[in-house]
Amino acid sequence: MARKARTTASAAQTTDLRNKLTTIAANLWWSWNPRTGSLFERIDAKAYHASDRNPIITLRKLSPAKARTLAADREYTYQLNQLHAQLKQYLREKTWYATKYGRSVKGVTAYFCMEYAVHESLPLYAGGLGVLAGDHLKSASDLGLPFVAVGIYWKKGYTRQHIDQFGKQQDAYPILRPMDAPIVEVKNKAGKTIRLRIPMGKDTVVAKAWRMDVGRVPLYLLDTDLPENKPADRKLTHVLYSGDRDTRIRQEILLGIGGWRLLRALNINVTCCHLNEGHAAFLSLERIAERMSGKKETLGRATRYVTDTSAFTTHTPVPAGNEEFDPVLVDRYFKDWPAKLGMSHEEFHNLARVKPGNVKENFGMTPLALRTSRRANGVAALHGQIARGMWKAIWPGKPVSKVPIGHVTNGIHLATWLHPRMAETFEEFLGDDWDARQDRVATWAQCRHIPDDALWALHQDLKADLIAYCRARVKNQLRRAPVKGMTLADADTILDPNALTIGFARRFAPYKRATLCFTDAKRLAKILNDSKRPVQIIFAGKAHPADVPGKAIIAELVKYARMPKFRKRIVFLEDYEMDVARHMVAGVDVWLNNPERPREASGTSGMKPALHGGLNLSILDGWWPEGYNRRNGWAIGKGENHNNTKAADTRDASNLYRLLEKEVVPLYYNRTKNGPPKEWVARMKNAMMTIPPFFNTHRQVKEYLTKYYLPAMRKA
Ligand SMILES: *Cc1c(COP(=O)(O)O)cnc(C)c1O
Repeated sequence: MARKARTTASAAQTTDLRNKLTTIAANLWWSWNPRTGSLFERIDAKAYHASDRNPIITLRKLSPAKARTLAADREYTYQLNQLHAQLKQYLREKTWYATKYGRSVKGVTAYFCMEYAVHESLPLYAGGLGVLAGDHLKSASDLGLPFVAVGIYWKKGYTRQHIDQFGKQQDAYPILRPMDAPIVEVKNKAGKTIRLRIPMGKDTVVAKAWRMDVGRVPLYLLDTDLPENKPADRKLTHVLYSGDRDTRIRQEILLGIGGWRLLRALNINVTCCHLNEGHAAFLSLERIAERMSGKKETLGRATRYVTDTSAFTTHTPVPAGNEEFDPVLVDRYFKDWPAKLGMSHEEFHNLARVKPGNVKENFGMTPLALRTSRRANGVAALHGQIARGMWKAIWPGKPVSKVPIGHVTNGIHLATWLHPRMAETFEEFLGDDWDARQDRVATWAQCRHIPDDALWALHQDLKADLIAYCRARVKNQLRRAPVKGMTLADADTILDPNALTIGFARRFAPYKRATLCFTDAKRLAKILNDSKRPVQIIFAGKAHPADVPGKAIIAELVKYARMPKFRKRIVFLEDYEMDVARHMVAGVDVWLNNPERPREASGTSGMKPALHGGLNLSILDGWWPEGYNRRNGWAIGKGENHNNTKAADTRDASNLYRLLEKEVVPLYYNRTKNGPPKEWVARMKNAMMTIPPFFNTHRQVKEYLTKYYLPAMRKA
């Protein structure tokens, strides 16, 4: 309990308290410094959690009386002063980048992405791409890179998922009011709001921008919901990945062309552009046109310059995941561009075709980005190889191995995903500065000194937290959508804190096969309901609102979870977002991933449990062929590709069952009296020693910097 105050605080003290809380709330640095959470929670726990832990909304609830109480609470103010000082120090200190490169390189790298997941209270993301982008910015900030980011202010975000009584996903889009977000309007030197005029076919759409500080990195978010725009254009920035093709091309014109004009209006000296996925590829056309008209460069010279200073990351080996537009639609918006670029209509479209002259091809954003970026990459070694095969026709005559698409394997921002109690363990055993040394194997080797009993006890605590969290969420779900034969009290009987707990959470795209483990439901029921060795599975994930097969998978899963034989052992948590993810990855024993190989470009979710000693049980797809070492988890199968047959599903399912029955469950329940499962804990430690040192965004960002950003910036 906090010590009670003896005296009441002075007006100056309460003002100081408010100022410091306001400063912390204004910079998303708080989102990866979880100790800040308790400061806001103490203001009004209910408002804090009801707002998805939004410091700005919570702070607005701070009454004068409560402010005086907190300002007089010495423990509270001590914490506050410390965190406030840490933030100031963070923004001022000499960074890794400054130490290593100083001022030797000019300008900044600008990062373009459709979505960013920085915190669950800012739902500007749909899934993995956004999480990766958010984590990338945080490491760019921690390392001190000269870096800015551009995105869109999705006022209604992405679907907030509810499951109705029939097991169907219902989609809701609550509004994120600017006043509730840690953002400020972007103004020009004269103090006036910047208004960008972006030509879109016959119209001109006006956009303004918000600035969000992610530590040291500014993230600029474009917004067209302005009174001077037509109603349809105001809606362009409402819902992420929504609308018809016409809406989508306008959104991408906004991101690529509008985003570039914004950086110009701000006079930012951009010497490298990183296109994170193809959505922003119109950016390259805008930059080429700008150099031709402004600097009077020839097409060849302008194109070379833009290409030399661009890096492009492709994120999906699924053809449908690669954005393309009907050429007729493109002509509606880019009619005068061939003339502007001094080329024919045919040449213009050839920029976005795999095979020049192939009029059957749509206008592909991936070919456009590849053709206008000197450096390109996939997001795991396997994905790089797949991408080279997919796009080799763009470089006719080159053997696949020489196709200029490399790879930078994804990572996670460790501080964002790490449970605070595990962070304490790392501070104790790896040293206070472990975070700055996170990409060294030697740092993590120290995990071997964590006593087995202590690690197991902590893990069991985190699992108990997860189960309490699941029960509370399921209770809420039941209140909203009652399930026949289930009472609210039943929610307290689901899941067993001592049972082997498997987590499965991701977007419900069909290739991820969320229901693979139900291929033989009887066999699964037998595994789960073994009274001596029980197993349980926690599921979560959204389907894209227009993804009919994805929604059918959810309905099927929910149906299973409600069957009496599965009810206590299978839970579906609705509305998968960062908070659900954080709880799951901290508390599960096993993280299951069974996509159709090789359709998972990287995946990052399995890296998060590994940080807490969770063991991956995964198809050898995405990052896992690089991560798996035989002792830090399991491989389902031997790396066989999925050839779109039922037989491939049956094969993968039976490999999964066999592993569970013969290896995973026996190892978990192999106990000496009262002690932790020795061999299991050894695997937990192996995962902690071998996965975080490589699969983190500090390593990832450094790799992008040295392979892609610096060569571009030096050439600019
Ligand atoms: C980590 C994370 C993802 C990424 O999932 P993958 O399936 O591994 O790509 C998506 N959504 C949320 C909320 C996450 O935390």
